[in-house]
Amino acid sequence: MIAEVVDGKLVSQKLRTQMAERVDNLRLKEIKPGLAVILVGDNPASQVYVRNKVRACDSIGIQSTVIRLSKDCSESAVLDELMRLNSDPNINGILVQLPLPNHIDDNKVLEIIKPEKDVDGFHKVNVGAMVTGNAQFYPCTPHGVMKLLDHYNIAIEGRHAVVIGRSNIVGKPMALMLLERGATVSICNSKTPDLSVFTRQADIVVAAVGRVNMLNGEMIKSGAAIIDVGINRLKDGSLVGDVDYESARSVAGFVTPVPGGVGPMTITMLLENTIRSAEMTIAS
Ligand code: NDP
Repeated sequence: MIAEVVDGKLVSQKLRTQMAERVDNLRLKEIKPGLAVILVGDNPASQVYVRNKVRACDSIGIQSTVIRLSKDCSESAVLDELMRLNSDPNINGILVQLPLPNHIDDNKVLEIIKPEKDVDGFHKVNVGAMVTGNAQFYPCTPHGVMKLLDHYNIAIEGRHAVVIGRSNIVGKPMALMLLERGATVSICNSKTPDLSVFTRQADIVVAAVGRVNMLNGEMIKSGAAIIDVGINRLKDGSLVGDVDYESARSVAGFVTPVPGGVGPMTITMLLENTIRSAEMTIAS
């Protein structure tokens, strides 16, 4: 079997075209969706991610502002900036690019963002709402994965999904979202003694670890959907995921490439959440 390639670029493009129409509709009501990004320090990967987010906003008419703070800035300077953005009516979405320098407490920073502007979906209020099935914003990466599964009509209800990784930003919300849709979900982590015992039974595997080739064709069931969230930079500068793509492709039914799979969808879901936040200002 040669798996169908799940093309995140293509799906993103289609979704962004629909989103641009929603932005136009908001403009007719004199609402210009606005996203503010706080970038602390000069981490090169963070700078690339922020640049891509800004470009994506521009492409569909969302106004974006990047607030750059030095890596030595105090925690209270970040909190003050967030308070200011919380009360700015032109800003619908706020995100703080992670990781933050060690002297700044991530939790304090994420919790000060108003939940209705928390377009990353990391605030406790939004996490709690997701757990109880009432989410207003889903975290972008798992949300993007769900959109990919749906776009390719990959069945979720009644299927066994295995999520590898249990981080707050990917693994845990991914597992919850699959559970919400009726999958039987296993969550594996670094302490799981034999990963392949789980992955060989899975109809859907989501790999979110950050380790090259940790999943290969011998570890998966024929016809399974393999979603590779991982991003790893090789010594030659190229990017690969967590999955050995070629061996997985000869066994799986569907597989996401890296780059070009989940990555573009993450940014697209950030746009979705920002537009949604702007639309919510009309409803409220
Ligand atoms: P974290 O480092 O926070 O989490 C990694 C998880 O992998 C941990 O839960 C860890 O388990 C688990 N793990 C580590 N080794 C193993 C192992 N041998 N077997 C099973 N599980 C293991 O990473 P993130 O969740 O933030 O990100 C994961 C990957 O996804 C990274 O490569 C990141 O760059 C990428 N990413 C990609 C995005 C995209 O848009 N495509 C967006 C966000 C992230 P334990 O908890 O036990 O330590």
